[in-house]
Amino acid sequence: MEFKLYNTLTRQKDAFDPIDANNIRMYVCGPTVYDLAHIGNARPVVVFDVLFRLLRHLFGAEHVTYARNITDVDDKINARAAEEGIDIRELTEKTAAQYHSDMSALRALPPTVEPRATDHIAEMHTIIGALIQRGHAYEAEGHVLFHVPSMSEYGQLSRRSVEDMRAGARIDVAPYKKDPMDFVLWKPSKEGEPAWDSPWGAGRPGWHVECSAMAEKHLGTVFDIHGGGIDLVFPHHENEIAQSCGAHATERMANIWMHNGFLQVEGEKMAKSQGNFITVKDLLGKWPGEAIRLALLTTHYRQPIDFTMNGLGEAKSLLDTWYRLTENAPEDAAVSDSVLTALTDDLNTPQAMAALHQLRADAAKGDQKAMGELKASARLLGLLEQSSEDWFAWRPEGFAADDQEIEKLIAARIEARNAKDFATSDRIRDELVAKGVVLMDSKNEETGALETSWSLK
Ligand code: AMP
Ligand code: ZN
Repeated sequence: MEFKLYNTLTRQKDAFDPIDANNIRMYVCGPTVYDLAHIGNARPVVVFDVLFRLLRHLFGAEHVTYARNITDVDDKINARAAEEGIDIRELTEKTAAQYHSDMSALRALPPTVEPRATDHIAEMHTIIGALIQRGHAYEAEGHVLFHVPSMSEYGQLSRRSVEDMRAGARIDVAPYKKDPMDFVLWKPSKEGEPAWDSPWGAGRPGWHVECSAMAEKHLGTVFDIHGGGIDLVFPHHENEIAQSCGAHATERMANIWMHNGFLQVEGEKMAKSQGNFITVKDLLGKWPGEAIRLALLTTHYRQPIDFTMNGLGEAKSLLDTWYRLTENAPEDAAVSDSVLTALTDDLNTPQAMAALHQLRADAAKGDQKAMGELKASARLLGLLEQSSEDWFAWRPEGFAADDQEIEKLIAARIEARNAKDFATSDRIRDELVAKGVVLMDSKNEETGALETSWSLK
């Protein structure tokens, strides 16, 4: 089976050819921990979790190292901590803890390593020192800057011309910069901001060098896959490449660069000012994490995704069906070839979904093999991993009824219906709807009696 991944560096699907099949290495840029994760932040987590699971499946779980960092030093962090009147460490700890709980509710596996920027200051100093020594960086007024014109390959990932980049550089360029594109590796801290001693004065690192240092420490100077959202191609990933390749005189930092498309909500760009800013934490109060995960995977990762409540509803009822159907499925089945073929073609999750639909259709006809394959294949995508009891026991936050009460009301409604007291039966149905319960009536084929099942709205 051919395994291809779209590589932003080559602008084509490249065959995945591991540097060391005993240790596949992947780095994904993680969150800056100053605020709750929004549903857009969840997209790279879920997408690269699928890739992590696929790599583990193909090469063996113990042969894959996945590093996803936590950026815990940043202007936005300093500003937020000051605003809340709390210690920076307190802010980053509580935000990181919430992030972990959100992402695990989306059924993302923890990465193999989760380095924190502030634990890698010495490694950053080493890279900055090497860049100065090789003529790629210079000191100016307490800053150390990367000198972009010193790297002829600069722009290879984003394929931007130097003129475009210069035009895009900020208008008021700091006077100590030799070139408007030069970017910060180290800078002095302002009063009250965290500061570390360095050969260039007390200060703190620039954002890009953090990832270069953490990736090198945990994955080596050249590794297999580097990922993140499409917004990170320029300048963040371009600068990571310049730093890592400049410091080590290597040709590549990672062989394959992968980027997920952006997420918007109900057709609109998500923004606090639009009032459509959805945090993962809030959404998890209204929908099961697994349904959110499935909704994210119905669009191919490189396409923009329009996240809708409708889509979430569909994802949830699909999972209801799959869980019901595979309740007694054999546990030892293999992942279906059709799903593997889809995923090894640049993580084609919509095609994998189509394959799962086919398996479901076959399983519904009583095909035991299809039933087992449906479960095993869905699990490769991080779905159907719960027991069906746990899946069906999920309730939205603030759900105001317990199962027994619902059953009692349903029985009372059937009684009223049988007595042709439609006013009462309608009143009970409305009462249940108000609690978020939807009723489905059917007639027993043999007795003709009314039967009612229920589900959540
Ligand atoms: P940040 O904390 O802003 O650095 O973002 C963390 C990750 O989320 C990065 O990989 C971003 O590219 C990604 N990201 C941020 N917003 C969105 C969005 N609306 N859609 C998809 N990915 C996003
Ligand atoms: Zn990064």
